[in-house]
Amino acid sequence: MEFTAIDRFLNDFEYVVNTDSASGNKAGILKTARFFRERFSRLGMACDIMLPGNGRVPCLKATLGSPPHDIMFLGHMDTVFPEGEAAGRPFAIHDNRAWGPGVCDMKGGLLVALHALETLKKNGALDRMSLCVLFNGDEETGSAVSRSLILETAKTCRRVLVFEPCRPDYHMVTQRKGGGWFDIEVIGKEAHAGADPHKGTNAVVELAHLIPIIQNLNDETLGTSAQVTVIRGGDKINIIPARATASVDVRILDPNEKQRVETFFYSLSGKRLFEKSTIQVTGCIDRPPMAATKKSLAIRDLIISRAREMGITMGAITTGGCSDGNLTASLGIPTVDGLGLVGANSHRNDEYVELESIPVMVNLICRVIPQLI
Ligand SMILES: [Zn+2]
Repeated sequence: MEFTAIDRFLNDFEYVVNTDSASGNKAGILKTARFFRERFSRLGMACDIMLPGNGRVPCLKATLGSPPHDIMFLGHMDTVFPEGEAAGRPFAIHDNRAWGPGVCDMKGGLLVALHALETLKKNGALDRMSLCVLFNGDEETGSAVSRSLILETAKTCRRVLVFEPCRPDYHMVTQRKGGGWFDIEVIGKEAHAGADPHKGTNAVVELAHLIPIIQNLNDETLGTSAQVTVIRGGDKINIIPARATASVDVRILDPNEKQRVETFFYSLSGKRLFEKSTIQVTGCIDRPPMAATKKSLAIRDLIISRAREMGITMGAITTGGCSDGNLTASLGIPTVDGLGLVGANSHRNDEYVELESIPVMVNLICRVIPQLI
């Protein structure tokens, strides 16, 4: 039995999109979690709303059967949009698309997971399965609080499907860059720029000298980027600046690059221009890359071939953006992402999803799941 309940999906969609749930909006995330708890409970799943971070971040866990679970369904209930956003631009349908806050990232994806499981239940296929659903509430702020819950839960699962948005023309995500941020602080010595320049150590000049050295970290073939995105230094035009700072955004695709990049930054003071300056670096690569593996590519191939049976040509991409799939993949658990609705413009007010992708993605997941158990 195929999924055909588009109206029911759209009703759910309207409800969850019109429920504001910015990261940190505990009431809104809790309301969203309760909606899903009710629905997963009806499928016979054991549901639990967890509140890590001293109750700050509601997360929903629903399990069927006992661990190890064959599949983990992973998604986030939080959005980047503040309270009141949905009242200002509520869920809407026009031009064959659905619009509204979080429609693409990633309330549509949460509903793909729910409706696929509901369809499998109707078909009688669900009861034989061992599955785990985890929807967290702080992905948009880096999953700082839910991280250990995600990792512990993933360890009880054989593979992970993440329902972040599917990219235009049905492209799932098989690789995501990891990364981190580094802050560099150069301390020199203040002096009168005109009267006593020889008494000063110019922190701005030292920092300027370091920037092209940092730029050399970029390695396109390895998939590593290091971009100095913010610099600050100096205060008055006639004073040699004693302090200058820079922030660097780093992304890596190869897990081994973590060590090279961190070693580079921590040894920057060895590359000083002025002996009397001091250079301090803080930061690290704290998001591991979601690398493609033999096992994750096998899931990709399975998805592509099931899609082909439905007349859909599915592809896969690598992206520089992180998701919670980076965390599960770092444990070596095969992870495939981008299985939500097809859409674009996440984090913007013109975010949308393609309505035609609703039955396609729900039915595709229904075809894929039984082959992963
Ligand atoms: Zn997202």
